[in-house]
Parts: sequence; C-alpha cells; structure tokens
Amino acid sequence: MAKKTKITKAAIFRALGLKAKMKGANCGGEWFADSKDYITSFNPTNGEVLARIEQASSRDYDKVMREARKAFLVWRGLPAPQRGEIVRQVGEALRQKKEMLGALVSLEMGKIYTEGLGEVQEMIDICDFAVGLSRNLSGPTLQSERPKHRMMEQWHPLGVIGVISAFNFPVAVWAWNTALAWVCGDSALWKPSSKTPLCAIACQNIVNEVFAKNDVPGAISNVTIGRGSTIGERLINDKHIPMVSATGSTRMGQRIGGVVGARLGRTILELGGNNAVIISEKADLTGALASAFFGAVGTAGQRCTSTRRLIIQETVYDKFLKKMIANYKKVAIGDPLDSKTLMGPLIDEGAVKDYENAIAAAREQGGKVLCGGKVLKPFGAATFVQPTIIEIDNKAAIVQSETFAPILYVMKYKKIEQAFKLHNDVPQGLSSAIYTDSVNEGEAFLSYLGSDCGIANINIGTSGAEIGGAFGGEKETGGGRESGSDAWKLYMRRQTNTINWGGEVHLAQGVEFHA
Ligand code: NAD
Repeated sequence: MAKKTKITKAAIFRALGLKAKMKGANCGGEWFADSKDYITSFNPTNGEVLARIEQASSRDYDKVMREARKAFLVWRGLPAPQRGEIVRQVGEALRQKKEMLGALVSLEMGKIYTEGLGEVQEMIDICDFAVGLSRNLSGPTLQSERPKHRMMEQWHPLGVIGVISAFNFPVAVWAWNTALAWVCGDSALWKPSSKTPLCAIACQNIVNEVFAKNDVPGAISNVTIGRGSTIGERLINDKHIPMVSATGSTRMGQRIGGVVGARLGRTILELGGNNAVIISEKADLTGALASAFFGAVGTAGQRCTSTRRLIIQETVYDKFLKKMIANYKKVAIGDPLDSKTLMGPLIDEGAVKDYENAIAAAREQGGKVLCGGKVLKPFGAATFVQPTIIEIDNKAAIVQSETFAPILYVMKYKKIEQAFKLHNDVPQGLSSAIYTDSVNEGEAFLSYLGSDCGIANINIGTSGAEIGGAFGGEKETGGGRESGSDAWKLYMRRQTNTINWGGEVHLAQGVEFHA
C-alpha cells in the first residue's frame, strides 16, 4: 500500500494564511475586491472545491496600480544591495515555508510533491541569484573618440513590471520575474493563472510579512487575481506598465505581444514548446531512457519543456522503445501528495479533452498508439490519463502543435543530418537535447547546423532547467529570456553617458561647426 504523506489541506491552509473565501487584490498587505465575480480553485485530483476568490475589479486594479507606482518611487531610491538584502529575506521566508508551499502547489496544480518542493527550491535559488546580482548591475566603460571624454553605460530601474503566469508553474515563474525586478528597483504586479489563485495568495502573504518587517512600501509586490479576458487585458493595455513578462500558450503570447507592442511597451514572452530528444545509436541508452522518461511523464507532460518528441536512430529504435514502454506501464498514477505517485492529474477536464482529441487526431493522421491512451478516474473526477506513446510522422499536423498532456510522439532517423532536420521542423523552439557519446554529433547539435532552440543539451533531457542560465526559446516560443544570465537587463532601462572632462567642445565624427 502506498504510504501517505501527513500534509493535509487544513495544515496547508493554516500555514499559508488561506481560507475558503478570499478576496483577489493585494497591495501593501491588505486583501480586497469588490467585483462580486468569483473564481473557484479546484483540487484537480478529486474535483473538490478548495476556495472561492472574488476577482479584482477594474476599480481594485486602479487602486493597486496607484500604490504600485508610489512604491516604485520609494523602492528605486534604495541602493541595490539594500534591495538585495530584502530579497535575501524573501528567500529565507521561502525556505521556512518550503514544505507547505510545495504541498500547496501539489494540491492546487497537481504535480507530485517532490516536484512541488522543486518548484519552491527554484524560487529560493532565484532569490539567491538576485542577491548576488544586486551588487553587480553593471555597465561597461567605453572608449570615447574625443579627447578628454569618457563614455559609460548605466542601468536604472524601469517602473512597475507586469507578470502574467501560467498554471503549470504557479509559483516559480512569478519568483523568476519578481526577484530580478525587485533587485533592479522595480515594483511588480502579478496576474496569476485563474486556475491557481491560492498559490498566488500564499506567495503574496509570505512576501508581505518580509516587506512589512523592513519598513518599505508593501506595494513593491502586488497581485490582481482574475481572468485573462478581464484583469489580464486591463494590465496589458496599461501604459503605466513599461514591461510585461508573460508565460503561457502561444495564442496568449500573440495577443499580449500585439497589444503591448502596439503601445511600444516591452515584453518577455515565454510560450509553448515542442521539445525533442535525439537518441543516437552512439548514446548511453540507460541514461537516455531515464531522461526521456522523466521529460515525457514528469509533471504529467505539463511542463513547457516536457519532452514531446523522440527522434531515434533506426538501429536502436525497437530496443529503446521496448524499454520505454515497459517503464510507461509501471508509472504509479494517483494522488500527487502520495509519496509513491509518479504522475498526478491533469489540471482539469478541459485538459483531458485536449488529450483525447490529440490522440484521436494522431490516429486519423496515421499515428499508431504504442501504449497508454486511456482516461482514468481513480478519485471520481476525469482528470487522470495514461501516459501515451504514439509512433507518427513528424509532419502530421498534431505533432506540429503543443498538446499540454503526457503524449510522446516517436519517430526514426537514419543519418544525424536527417535527425536535425526533423528536430527543427516544428514551429516552436524552446528546449532540445541529444543523447550521444560522439563529440562530433554533440558539437554539431550545438552548432548553427544543429538545434534551433533557446535551450540545447547534451546527455541530459529537455526539462528541468537550473537557475543561472537564461531561460526561453525561439520561434513561436516567443523569443523571451528570463531568470538567469543577463536577463536582468530587461527589467531596467539602459543609459549611455558621455562626459567631457576637458572643457573643449569636440563634435563626434570630426564635424566642424563654428559661428
Ligand atoms: P494560458 O495561455 O491559457 O494562460 C497563461 C496566462 O495568460 C494566464 O494567467 C491567463 O489568465 C493569461 N491570459 C490569457 N489571455 C490573456 C489576455 N488576453 N490578456 C492577459 N492575460 C491573458 O496558458 P496555461 O494553460 O495557463 O499554461 C500552459 C501554457 O503555458 C503552455 O503552452 C506552456 O508551454 C506555456 N508555458 C510556457 C513556459 C515558458 O517558459 N516558455 C513556462 C510555463 C508554461
């Protein structure tokens, strides 16, 4: 019998300040809302109602924005290392709440507990990263062509940053953005997914305490909970928000990119993926199996970086798939808070419909289901599905689009050049991997001839990115980069300075201009 963890819904609610009925707007510690329009948070495992949240109204939004703009004017005046110190304390507060916040992620979103904890660890890691960054928001000194002149570049805080997040990483994506925005001197306004509002309320409660303790305006961190079509649209159209970082589907990104672009605002777009692993005949097949299995089945296929396609060299194709199918048949499917479970539910019955439709479409388009393909109801609600492997041509329309479910498409190749071609022949460009022990194959995959994705790995899978590297992808994935490397620059405004310390006027390019 599977051993249950001891974490109950009541314990999670108590630890994180959650109730059965709550309000969906917060700036500076106070929860409020006057829309009389409610969204419901469900437990995807059994369909139980977890809470009802009154959405932020237009008036609530205005109040939050007013406070966020005022808070920005104070916050930007604090030296960056002092802002970093407060972000360090946010990281500490998250360490203390890690177990319960990780459990809430499992309860409301459905990923298994070890992955819920991993998601909170990402939040802690980005805080640590941001603390270091707060002493290194640096620009170069440049050589001027004019005598006794100096040029340099410096970075200033940008304003109120808008963060729109998807349901599948209900806490980490917010932290990726806000930890950087905060050390950069910005305040942030978060519109979380309306499928995971409790995760947002819990995070805001945690940071509210930290900001209050430090006697800085609480409205450095702000939340407006509501649908994309109401409060989301309000946010993206708001000219007071110079930058919107949006994570979600490509369709959502097209809308947000268009609206924010039309008002010449800045965006970071983190959209859908269609990630593949190439498995060469020169690969360590045991490692490849473990990585591909986690990549395709982990988080029930609901990661933007989930492995969706396997491109396998023909001489190892049958052998590899036999082992993969054997693993698939052993997947323990069930309650994500049960420590024996490997795969929890999909987020809702709509996602299950998408799974069923994709399998039907794959069959119509010539695909052959090698294992899985069924909907399960272990707890009544139809939110569980079997992880599924389908042999199919890369050109099939269904393979070309992202289905947010544990469906893995498999295909063969003969020569590595053909594998690269298949790999890149999709509209998305997020994460990619090759399994090979050949240096030449690996290097070619990372070269301009190889993967066209924002993330390209050798001998590790497509999912499970670390804080530190810039995260994001090309083509329909949106081109955004966040979290690591120099992504912080998108949260600041760059200024080029030229200083004449010699007194004489010299015009650039040798231009003469005398009265
Ligand atoms: P979604 O597109 O349905 O929603 C994402 C967010 O956008 C939600 O908060 C939603 O309310 C909001 N939104 C929708 N329309 C809006 C509008 N017109 N104006 C403002 N906000 C709007 O996505 P989802 O189902 O929550 O998440 C799954 C998708 O997210 C997948 O496609 C996945 O690949 C993608 N994703 C990408 C990354 C990445 O980093 N590339 C990370 C996680 C998820």
